[in-house]
Amino acid sequence: MTRMRIALVAAAAAASLALAGCAGDGGGEAEESAEPAASFEAGTTMAELQEAGEITIGTKFDQPLFGLVGPSGEPEGFDVEIGKIIASELGIDEGNITWTETVSANREPFIEGGQVDLVVATYTINDERKKVISFAGPYYMAGQSILVLADNEDITSEDDLVGQPVCSVTGSTPAANLKELGAEVLETDTYSNCLEPLRSGKVVAVSTDNVILAGLAAQNEGEFKVVGEPFTEEPYGIGVQLDDTDFRMFINDVLEKAYEDGRYEEAWNSTAGTVLPFVEPPAVDRY
Ligand code: GLU
Repeated sequence: MTRMRIALVAAAAAASLALAGCAGDGGGEAEESAEPAASFEAGTTMAELQEAGEITIGTKFDQPLFGLVGPSGEPEGFDVEIGKIIASELGIDEGNITWTETVSANREPFIEGGQVDLVVATYTINDERKKVISFAGPYYMAGQSILVLADNEDITSEDDLVGQPVCSVTGSTPAANLKELGAEVLETDTYSNCLEPLRSGKVVAVSTDNVILAGLAAQNEGEFKVVGEPFTEEPYGIGVQLDDTDFRMFINDVLEKAYEDGRYEEAWNSTAGTVLPFVEPPAVDRY
């Protein structure tokens, strides 16, 4: 169920109490079911969600390893697991999470409009986006890279993309970076929709975050390869409504707790970790 929420008033005043309410709970076990209910300050997003007993989370539906709707009909991946951990800390079971597809271009509008309560979707934290939404995290550090056909020997770094047709996604940081680099950018709505133009030779490469490309390469074994070194930093954050500081700080607490008690690593190992190595998470930024 989609929930619309009214804007929070005097959110900052409630922050410390709300945080105190959630910090010490839970048994430290890596588990899928909801944590014992914490008590949250009335009027906070946490209290509203806990009372509703349900949450709507925006994620990707076509990105293997991070957010992919498979045969089960439910999205699977590292971002999905991060979303489940947050829900669990609000006392919300997996079954009461409504997953909404957020493609790169509609993430800010969906947060601003209240179609989703939060977004976990390979979502780079940057100043431009922070003008309209707020970010918890980062919880992972990715970097932009390049995907080419497996037999391509011509493209080995971003310098080889200058003046070349390259596919990326509207509203993403990689699309903007490619334009700055001087590539001829073919924009579509999702990264999976970049694969056909790559196969047909309409573009010479697909460029986005290394971990997204690794997922696409693993999904289509033998067809594609990731080349070069990552050439940007893409710190992944969790998008919430602008200035919902209580909720942002709560999610930061949840992340730190999950780093400590093993749930973050378990989430990684069961998803992206099947293809990519585990790296220690970056420190959260409590800006
Ligand atoms: N992390 C980049 C971004 O948020 C690229 C991945 C994506 O589009 O989801 O724009």
